[in-house]
Amino acid sequence: MPADAAGDYDVVILGGGSGGYACALRSAELGLSVALVEKGRLGGTCLHQGCIPTKALLHAAEVADVAREGASFGVRTTLESVDMPGVNAYKDGVVSRLYKGLQGLVKAAKIDYVEGAGVLDGPHTVVVGERRLTGRNVVLATGSYAKTLPGLEVGGRIMTSEQALSIDHVPGRVVVLGGGVIGVEFASVFKSFGSEVTIIEALPRLVAAEDEAISKQLERSFRKRKIAFKTGVRFAGATQEGDVVTVSLESGESIEADLLLVAVGRGPVTEGLGYEAAGITVDRGFVPTDSRLRTGVEGVYAVGDIVPGLQLAHRGFAQGIFVAEEIAGLAPACIEESGIPRVTYCDPEIASVGLTEAQARDKYGDVATYEYNLGGNGKSQILGTQGFVKLVRQVDGPVVGVHMIGARIGEQVGEAQLIVNWEAHPEDVSGLIHAHPTQNEALGEAHLALAGKPLHAHA
Ligand SMILES: Cc1cc2nc3c(=O)[nH]c(=O)nc-3n(C[C@H](O)[C@H](O)[C@H](O)COP(=O)(O)OP(=O)(O)OC[C@H]3O[C@@H](n4cnc5c(N)ncnc54)[C@H](O)[C@@H]3O)c2cc1C
Repeated sequence: MPADAAGDYDVVILGGGSGGYACALRSAELGLSVALVEKGRLGGTCLHQGCIPTKALLHAAEVADVAREGASFGVRTTLESVDMPGVNAYKDGVVSRLYKGLQGLVKAAKIDYVEGAGVLDGPHTVVVGERRLTGRNVVLATGSYAKTLPGLEVGGRIMTSEQALSIDHVPGRVVVLGGGVIGVEFASVFKSFGSEVTIIEALPRLVAAEDEAISKQLERSFRKRKIAFKTGVRFAGATQEGDVVTVSLESGESIEADLLLVAVGRGPVTEGLGYEAAGITVDRGFVPTDSRLRTGVEGVYAVGDIVPGLQLAHRGFAQGIFVAEEIAGLAPACIEESGIPRVTYCDPEIASVGLTEAQARDKYGDVATYEYNLGGNGKSQILGTQGFVKLVRQVDGPVVGVHMIGARIGEQVGEAQLIVNWEAHPEDVSGLIHAHPTQNEALGEAHLALAGKPLHAHA
């Protein structure tokens, strides 16, 4: 159905972040008429406040560490200083090139890009100012926001990732509230830039969603990097006075800092958008869907961070593509949440896919595991990193989880996800040759060992 002047579309998408724009681009490729409504900037959180700017900061952090540690490689370098305006200019340059590219893609796809805040008026209409956009299908993709804790007001020296991304100086002392993905990434950046960092985490371990062995290794590495952390400790309050923010804990302890970064998770953006009035179920702010991403209201789908589950950009992309194909009648295969790869870009990096050992034991009973230490991997030794590749397999069955930690290990998640999603057995993977010397080889060696023919593996 071509778009007409009255605004009839095959698909109207509310929100132009990872989930929304992926859905728009794939819908257009499939010949559907599309309106994409965005109140901020096309690309959403990932491009402007999430994945891309944070990874640029992490790369600048790596450069700072390399400069500081050059002598250990026989190259005499010193770190003079970190020029935050310069770092921000580099980061913003990366974002703006990608932003331009994305705008070009949307334009070339002839998507009707509508700027402004939209609200649902019934299940098939999105109202943006004076315009009423009516779609045969509506896709909700309004994303997420940085949460805070009750009584903890963001402002001044208390920031979320959003403000911390464009800070113009390196703070002397930083308290990071939350030891999840965003918390450990920022902790890593600030430490590399020269701040004194303390992470406060209420759960018993950092990156608690990961396999327990990964948390232990990260904690070991952070101790070595002198990143302080307190786990199993609850936040009680924070006050700002002059140049200092004082963070108090339920244990009675208090910590002074120049900056408190609040990284306690992200909540769904669904309030006041007419979802419930249109008959859509909203549960604690999230929009639950079935495995085909249907909301329960005919012709209304939801994708991305508003759908309960992993809040990751590539999950949003995949869901957006899925919904476009579903609408076009291609009957795509459902997305398996546990098959989605996850990378945390602190130093050392963490990459995982599939089930943790504990989850696999819950699901299958007995499982077999193997940890290949990067101490035996040539490239990791060259880089001077420590860590491991851990495999979890069903007894005599396929590999159901891969968990890795070490510098730059995120790049290895590609093969790991093929192994888990194609339900490969270690014996299948051990027959594939991995290039030497690469960190990728560590994955190959782990499978060789689990298949009973270890090569460079120390017991
Ligand atoms: C600091 C940080 C680092 C991250 N790093 C990574 C990473 O390395 N890898 C990764 O995979 N993920 C990462 N993420 C998560 C990732 O950014 C999100 O999972 C992803 O952006 C979700 O996409 P989305 O489309 O659901 O929502 P969003 O990207 O939030 O997009 C939603 C869009 O909807 C728009 N919108 C909302 N309401 C309306 C309305 N009423 N009308 C019109 N428009 C509206 C918003 O302006 C926004 O642009 C990170 C997130 C943060 C905060």
